Amino acid sequence: MRRVLILGGGFGGLAAAHHLRAKLDHKDEIILADQRAHFMVGFRQTWALVGASTMDEGLRPLAALERKGIHFIHAPITQLDPDARAATIDGKSFQADAIIIALGAELASEKIPGFASHAINFYDRVNIPRAADALRDFTGARLAIGIFGAPYKCPPAPYELALLTRDFFARQGKAIEMDVFTPQPMSLPVLGQASCSVIENRLSASGINFMPNLKAASVEKNAVVFANGKREFDLLLGVPPHRVPAVIAQSGLTNGGDWIKINPRTTETKFANVYAVGDVVEILTANGKPLPKAGVFAEAMARVAAERIIATFENRMPTAQFDGAGGCFLEVGNGEAMMVQGEFLAEPAPRVSLTDPSEKYLADKRAFEAERLRAWLE
Ligand SMILES: Cc1cc2nc3c(=O)[nH]c(=O)nc-3n(C[C@H](O)[C@H](O)[C@H](O)COP(=O)(O)OP(=O)(O)OC[C@H]3O[C@@H](n4cnc5c(N)ncnc54)[C@H](O)[C@@H]3O)c2cc1C
Repeated sequence: MRRVLILGGGFGGLAAAHHLRAKLDHKDEIILADQRAHFMVGFRQTWALVGASTMDEGLRPLAALERKGIHFIHAPITQLDPDARAATIDGKSFQADAIIIALGAELASEKIPGFASHAINFYDRVNIPRAADALRDFTGARLAIGIFGAPYKCPPAPYELALLTRDFFARQGKAIEMDVFTPQPMSLPVLGQASCSVIENRLSASGINFMPNLKAASVEKNAVVFANGKREFDLLLGVPPHRVPAVIAQSGLTNGGDWIKINPRTTETKFANVYAVGDVVEILTANGKPLPKAGVFAEAMARVAAERIIATFENRMPTAQFDGAGGCFLEVGNGEAMMVQGEFLAEPAPRVSLTDPSEKYLADKRAFEAERLRAWLE
């Protein structure tokens, strides 16, 4: 009997667990640990924020994994020893034949002075009810959506929120001023300026001020402070800086950097039979831009890690490789979505494009969620 330990029950962890369960011997043990009791796709937060749906409709208990032959431990992982392939979960040590680390990115609001008191972190699902109330009861004149660090997960999400919020206020007949600011030079750098202009023109046509190259230093009551001045707001919805979870920072896996370094094709860390996938890793594209942190990539990397573990257990040469192909949705309002899609790890530069908006892509986005909930947790 062999044991695979999966750390994290988000996109990467769930995809890996199911891929392994489908192919490993039933006697082999698959353990998945997460401090959360439920899985939910990230964009449900945006839908709940603008009153398009509820989070409850998209929440599924991770305990459902037990019915599928995957042992779920609902507890914090407090220590990781990659050399010994061991982790401490709920105070108990677990040793494994292989480990897949899929712990995602942690949100670090405290890195920006004043953020916690004066902004709402809309990337944390805990804050969604408060943010939805604030939008619904909004009587001010100026709403700001701010990106406080890069890389951050799902790069289109803040622009999507801006466009859906614009629709939300239009339905109520409210005219407000809206800003979206980012420290990056353009909306989605991996796309290049031509496609970014399409997004930025769309924001502008919707009356949203797109403000690039603005790195916020702090937040005060009703004002964001930048190096070259302040910008006032009545409500600020923010994406805080991201970082690896503390247990990873202490594990030696980041090699002094910000994220876990892996072989981008095999998802291997420098420790034998220890793989890392998803938002917790850094992969650079051929032109030096970070591969977007997105569920689709976490999932694809997870299948590669799982496939390589299966081959190793069967004494075969692992051949599965991550190719960086995939796409993210960008909902634009009016019942439509665009896709940012392509081959992100193509040489000598990513081949990524932005599609025209269509109702079909919004239908695909809904199906994307439904398929995963059904396959993983129902
Ligand atoms: C608003 C929004 C919209 C998005 N839209 C899209 C989209 O349209 N398409 C797309 O592909 N992606 C989207 N994403 C991004 C996507 O959610 C992430 O990229 C994806 O979840 C990453 O998967 P992961 O497995 O690496 O990490 P996660 O899914 O974040 O999972 C990590 C898990 O590890 C657990 N964990 C962390 N530390 C510990 C610890 N010490 N002990 C125990 N458990 C721990 C966490 O509780 C979490 O469940 C969106 C994100 C947001 C916020």
